[in-house]
Amino acid sequence: MTSKDGYSWTKAQGLRAGVPSIGVIEPPSNVKSADTVYDVIVVGAGYCGLTAARDASLAGLKVLLLEARDRIGGRSWSSNIEGYPYEMGGTWVFWGQANIWREIARYGMQDELEISYDFSRGINKYLLSSPQGTQTFTHEEEDALMQSSLAKLVNVDGCLGKTVVPFPHSGVLTPEARKYDHMSVADRLAEIKNDLTPNERLCAESFVLLCSGGTLETTSFYEFLHWWALSGYSYEGCIDYLVKYKFRGGQSSFAINFFKEALASGNLTYAFNSPVASIQHGGNGVQITTRAGQTYKSAKMICAIPLNVLNDVAFDPPLAPGRKAAATTGHVNQCVKVHAEISDRDLRSFTGISYPHNGLIYGFGDGETPAGNTHVVAFGGQHNHFHPEENLEHTKAAFQGFAPMNIERLVFHNWSKDEFAKGAWFFPAPGLLSTHLKDMRARERNIVFACSDWALGWRSFIDGAIEEGTRAAITVRADFAGRAKL
Ligand code: FAD
Repeated sequence: MTSKDGYSWTKAQGLRAGVPSIGVIEPPSNVKSADTVYDVIVVGAGYCGLTAARDASLAGLKVLLLEARDRIGGRSWSSNIEGYPYEMGGTWVFWGQANIWREIARYGMQDELEISYDFSRGINKYLLSSPQGTQTFTHEEEDALMQSSLAKLVNVDGCLGKTVVPFPHSGVLTPEARKYDHMSVADRLAEIKNDLTPNERLCAESFVLLCSGGTLETTSFYEFLHWWALSGYSYEGCIDYLVKYKFRGGQSSFAINFFKEALASGNLTYAFNSPVASIQHGGNGVQITTRAGQTYKSAKMICAIPLNVLNDVAFDPPLAPGRKAAATTGHVNQCVKVHAEISDRDLRSFTGISYPHNGLIYGFGDGETPAGNTHVVAFGGQHNHFHPEENLEHTKAAFQGFAPMNIERLVFHNWSKDEFAKGAWFFPAPGLLSTHLKDMRARERNIVFACSDWALGWRSFIDGAIEEGTRAAITVRADFAGRAKL
């Protein structure tokens, strides 16, 4: 099936909107009667909504899942082009992420992971490209450079940030954590400007921008420390947790299991291509109206849509002021993630930075396609932001910023222009978490708000989405059981 989402380009076919994905659901709806009153309506079929819908339907609740798109997975989905999965959004997973690993084990997918890198052949080099030219390092030198630059960045306490974020899965921001949340990474870099070598500065800045998709000024220093803490306070940990292990069959091969299990319960009704326009809620329940004018009713609702699009749904009564303010501020991540299939086989083993002049900042060999070509993935963001489909020559030139390469295919999803995401993974500007984390997590009457964007642990990750979907289903089940609410 082909989704309306995503783009691909080849010389022969030109630019095409829409790419094939096993995450597209056919038929798009199994709604039998418009009059059914559901126990719970889940809005959003990303990992959070899928987890919530599955857990609630397995618990015997009558569930309706409403999704704006034609597919599951939200910000994590893969396209299968000529038998090869290109990850359009969320990609890498790790066994240290407890929620995701529980689900990988549940579906018996422990042996379906592969490693993105292959340093066994080809140029096997780290290319550090700046306006001054390209320097070449071994991967061992890359690791040493990255570790030393990030250690200097996070070492606010003489213990690599361990005293600032001692419990990375806690939702409590201590006064010290708040102090760093009001600071940007640009502020922190100014503090250590005499301690970093020019190469360390390039490495630190580009790695931070890879994480936040914002600018150095709009990146909360606390949230970077939080990622660092979650990754075991080391650069090696960051690689293991953030960019190493992915599904051989693509993210959609994982997400589909959640949907199939929910469906098999017999309690799941669903409707895709159904953007929700408005939500009325009171003491007795919830009434949801789609853009097409279809209304659905339920006792409870789980709202599993991202922060940056919350204000696009009309809530009556309106969203609580703190949540509304958080959604108005939004998160800052405007990541540009683009895949290139290239005929240069030697580049399978390259990793590289192209900064601060280039639109794509961070890139590396991510796989080998069935044609034997190299698959390179590259990331940009708010820094030198661009829309890949608007100027393909610019997009291709951005890849040449790492090394000369012959591009045969491009594949990407424009997350900035995606009306149901308006950005990539959550990353906060200074102050957002200290001011609004609690507000984002609060329930409003019969609506539980759940999303990776305000998870406590792996916030911004698939693991965080599963954490939140689990919390939402438990909360709603407790409501029906008359137990204390979470
Ligand atoms: P979403 O996936 O955004 O799901 C929300 C759903 O709500 C969507 O399907 C959306 O269509 C739907 N929706 C929105 N508005 C409406 C409406 N009005 N009516 C009905 N439905 C609506 N995470 C990792 O763990 N590892 C990674 O390597 C990684 N890389 C990433 C790379 C990119 C480019 C991106 C974009 C994300 C990445 N992430 C990664 C983050 C991860 O993808 C997300 O944190 C996670 O998928 C979010 O899940 P969610 O269910 O909370 O939200």
